[in-house]
Amino acid sequence: MKHSILILGGTAEARKLAAGLAGDPRFTTELSLAGRTRAPAEQPVPVRIGGFGGAEGLAAYLRDKGITILIDATHPYAAQISRNAAEAAKRADVPLIALRRSPWRRQQGDRWIEVASIHDAVTALGKSPRKVFLTLGRQELLPFEAAPQHHYLIRSVDPVEPPLAVPHAIYLTERGPFAETDEARLLKEQGIEVIVAKNSGGPSSYGKICAARALGIEVILARRPDLPDLPSVETVEEMLAWLDHVPAPLKERGE
Ligand code: NAP
Repeated sequence: MKHSILILGGTAEARKLAAGLAGDPRFTTELSLAGRTRAPAEQPVPVRIGGFGGAEGLAAYLRDKGITILIDATHPYAAQISRNAAEAAKRADVPLIALRRSPWRRQQGDRWIEVASIHDAVTALGKSPRKVFLTLGRQELLPFEAAPQHHYLIRSVDPVEPPLAVPHAIYLTERGPFAETDEARLLKEQGIEVIVAKNSGGPSSYGKICAARALGIEVILARRPDLPDLPSVETVEEMLAWLDHVPAPLKERGE
């Protein structure tokens, strides 16, 4: 019997991990996506899309599909699904391991203001009009309607529909990775004074942080949410190494 792996994804790492497992005769692998992006990137293993219906729904899915390893490779800000995964793994008695990028660490020259929430980020922008670059998910943009005095440059994977109810906003629909030189050009062209972002970690969205450091631009970073305390690794390579050493499922070993 092979291991049956379910990867909770929605990140570049989840896709890379799936590519590393595709065709491996020791495993059957399925990737789960929330279905947030309209045209998700092509994936190297079979994909299922949409919520499970909370922790209980996910536990039932794990049991029904005979999943033997659950991998939480969701984004560090996707706290609900990570909590559900922890609870579901317990209920279905399936081992769970997380793939979590470490956060970016402040370096010399960084002008970071760390805030607890997106609402606090809006407050931190202040009352005077500023040119603001928002690199946030669609769901996180609404609080900025409370600060219509600013000029916003908004970048997201899918179009922001409906657009924000603010008088000055430019929208960019683009998917990373974003190189530092391109980010620096964009920040200069648009006269950006402050960036609001999440501390996603990883290389693909770090270009704007480096560009901001070089140009002396302020960055308001929303802190990461609390996530369940789980066995975890930080890179795809470490996850593949962990899987190399995982014992075969119990049935095969005749236990
Ligand atoms: P969330 O708040 O933690 O999850 C909300 C609900 O969406 C979950 O309760 C679950 O619904 C469903 N869900 C989330 N991830 C799922 C997955 N991989 N497969 C199936 N259902 C999933 O998450 P979110 O912030 O909405 O993020 C959604 C997805 O986008 C995640 O997969 C995440 O990795 C990715 N993403 C998020 C961010 C971010 O900043 N939050 C950035 C990049 C990518 P049920 O309770 O019905 O199962």
